[in-house]
This record gives sequence, C-alpha cells and structure tokens, in this order.
Amino acid sequence: MKREFAVIGLGRFGASICKELCAEGMKVLAIDIDEQKVNEFKNIATYAVIADSTDEQTLKELGIKNIDHVIVAIGDNIQASILTTVILADLGIKRITVKAQNDYHEKILNKIGAHQVVHPERDMGRRLAHSLLSSNIIDYLELSEDYSMVEVMAGRKMRGKTLIELDIRATYGCNVVAIRRGNNLNVSPRADDIVEENDILIVIGADEDISKFEKHLVIDE
Ligand code: ADP
Repeated sequence: MKREFAVIGLGRFGASICKELCAEGMKVLAIDIDEQKVNEFKNIATYAVIADSTDEQTLKELGIKNIDHVIVAIGDNIQASILTTVILADLGIKRITVKAQNDYHEKILNKIGAHQVVHPERDMGRRLAHSLLSSNIIDYLELSEDYSMVEVMAGRKMRGKTLIELDIRATYGCNVVAIRRGNNLNVSPRADDIVEENDILIVIGADEDISKFEKHLVIDE
C-alpha cells in the first residue's frame, strides 16, 4: 500500500522533500500559506492546497488525521512551526518530522511531540567541515548527541594492515562496522580482514573518539 505524506511549507527544504517523495510514487499532500508556492506544486503533488497550518480546523478539514507521516518544513517562522507541531501531536499523527532552525527550536520541538527533528543546515555544515579535513573523509553523520558515524577511504596509514593491526577499537574506542570494497559490503568484518587501497571503512563511535581516529589514522600529513 502506498504511504501517504503531507509536507507543510514549500520553501527550499519542503519543496525538495515533496518533489522527491512524488518522484518515488508516494501520495503527497503539499500545503503552504503562499498561493504562488502552492501553484508551483499543482502538477507535482497529489494535492496542493493553500492553507495556514496553525489553524487546527483547516488541518482537520484537509483530512490530515489520515496521513501516515507529516513533515513540517516551515523555516523562518518558528512560532508557526511550533504551533503546527503541537496541533499535529494533539491530533495523534503517527509520525511527525520537523525542521528546526536552531538548537533552542529543536529542544522545544522534541518536548512538544515531534518524533523526528532535523537540522539540515547544521548537519550539512558539520558534514562539510569533516570532509574538508581530509579528502579521505567521505561522509560524516551524527547518530545522536554524542555518537557519530564516519565513512573514510583507507589512506596511507591503513592500507595493507589487518583490523587487529590497526587496533582501532582499543586505541581510539571506535568500531569498524563495515568495509565496502567496490560493490561488496563486508558487514561486521573480522579482526584478520586486511584493509586494501580504496576500501571504505564505516566507523561508529563517540564524537571525541571519532575525532581522534580521524586525526591519527585518516588525515595524512
Ligand atoms: P526554507 O529555508 O526551507 O527555504 P522557508 O522559511 O523559506 O524555508 O519556507 C517556509 C515555507 O513555509 C514558506 O513557503 C512559507 O510560505 C510557508 N509557511 C510559513 N508559515 C506557514 C503556515 N502557517 N502555514 C503554511 N505554510 C507556512
């Protein structure tokens, strides 16, 4: 069965989510207070409506209660974003994802019933900063407040060594959860698996441990 989504706020972030979900064949209700934005989505979304999401009655009339997952992508107007989230949580929406504008906004959203809070500018900034440290750092993903995942290409310091020789867990406190070699993904690699040139290691750990691992094993002087 097709899952149904609603995207509230069709700025750059909401528009991109809406387009992607539609391209994946999902049913999407696109909502914005701005007529021009809504018109742009008339031929993209399943339904595109002009509405103020801070008006509970309007949301009810739109049948928002029957939607599986609602994404609140109202950017600058923090008050509208918070009010919309409260209404959605009150209505018992099963899954609510909200874009936060800053850390304070994020904290409030978590308290008032958002199931997932995303912070794309901050996260992108962090990812970019890590990729700037070394061309061997391919991706960086925050898993929680204290834990992250990093995807690194085996550099000079790692190539030709077994995982036991690299001793990443004991030395840096991080875990190599998988090694990608071309199209092959080796999940939970063994201690005697050898790291080869161009292998991609997927490593999970506490932020400070990941940082030590990056400094000592990934970034070549
Ligand atoms: P981005 O940073 O992703 O581009 P914006 O803040 O520019 O986000 O866009 C947010 C969108 O949310 C705008 O198109 C705006 O019209 C819409 N919006 C703001 N308040 C409401 C509201 N109360 N109801 C519905 N849409 C809203």
